[in-house]
Amino acid sequence: MCVEKGRGGLGIADLERINFALLGKWWFRLGDGVDGLWKRVIWEKYYGGRNEADITSFESLTMSRVWKDIVSVGRGSERLVEMLVKGFKWKVGEGRCVEFWRDKWVGDKSLKDLFPRLFALSTIREGRLKDMGFWRGENWVWDCRWRRGCVGRAVGEEGQFREMINGVRLRMEEADSWHWIHSSDGTYSAKAAYDFLSPKVCVLDQEWSRIIWSKYVPSKLSVFGWRLFLDRLATKENLGKRGIVLTGGDVSCGFCNEGVERLHHNFCECEGVWLVWTKVLGWWGLQSVLPNDIFGLAESVVYGIGGGCLKELGGLIFLVTAWLVWDWRNMKLFGPVLQSEVRLLESIQAKSFLWIKNKEPRCVFSYTDWISRPMNCKEAIVQHRQNLKKYKKMHSS
Ligand SMILES: [Zn+2]
Repeated sequence: MCVEKGRGGLGIADLERINFALLGKWWFRLGDGVDGLWKRVIWEKYYGGRNEADITSFESLTMSRVWKDIVSVGRGSERLVEMLVKGFKWKVGEGRCVEFWRDKWVGDKSLKDLFPRLFALSTIREGRLKDMGFWRGENWVWDCRWRRGCVGRAVGEEGQFREMINGVRLRMEEADSWHWIHSSDGTYSAKAAYDFLSPKVCVLDQEWSRIIWSKYVPSKLSVFGWRLFLDRLATKENLGKRGIVLTGGDVSCGFCNEGVERLHHNFCECEGVWLVWTKVLGWWGLQSVLPNDIFGLAESVVYGIGGGCLKELGGLIFLVTAWLVWDWRNMKLFGPVLQSEVRLLESIQAKSFLWIKNKEPRCVFSYTDWISRPMNCKEAIVQHRQNLKKYKKMHSS
């Protein structure tokens, strides 16, 4: 529910998420290799003067509240671990800033954690990348030596180790930089972090979002549309997924008793419902098509009715129809009233007329026009908009 409107959410800001995103900024600035007094103080105070790339490596009782918050934010959830603890990495340049064994610069952990046996055997356990090899002409050569020969398991590990570091070479002309791996340019921004933390499951294509949240669509219908496109309606199948079992384990469609009641069946496949769509398309003088999913269906209605210029109108008709179909289904399941598809079409026409008139009060067409010549009414809306534009232009110049 907290995904922004443009990406298919309901646009509710999640304060906690904003807070995490802002705290993450500290992680980025701490590691970025740029010297600063505040950093030296922190490293000195909490980390014995050494820059640990992973600031979660140490926590003590003497840490200040604020610093504890910053450090612990990375442990909040799997997603936060992805974002922060695993999210930062050195992009190797000349190798002056990066600690060979302790920092994260190749692979997703430090070499010390990836190859503890080799670390124990290494002749140099502390040093920057530039101290761990030499330039031979244009080429950088890694020079790692062991206290004694590698035996046993260490032999296999050494092969892996060499392969890994040989994939990276220093670049004399570039400074090392601290990268956030979840952005294309490596920069951490609170905005990008917020997006990163926002659940991806309910992200909806921008175009559908625009249709759902257009000015013609009243908000209760927008919310319905949002749930529809993201398959969040309480169909019997979805209830089952959430562990809610209906009496007798019944999952069948309330209209036809044949298919399993799921989004696709309930809005596209079921015969009774299909008849409704055909009637709606017929009302607009459109050929019916057989789309294979809810998006295909929406597309044929939205573009069939709206064309290029008035997609919001097609969107409204689609949503009103789907909404009333769902209402019809609920009536059939829980209510005493049984409606026919013909009555349903009447409701669709009446509701959509009401909402359109509400937003375009100055457009002159009657309810009879709306029912019998909807395309002409659409033309009237388009015409009215163009006139309004001209009028505004005339009076602004
Ligand atoms: Zn059915």
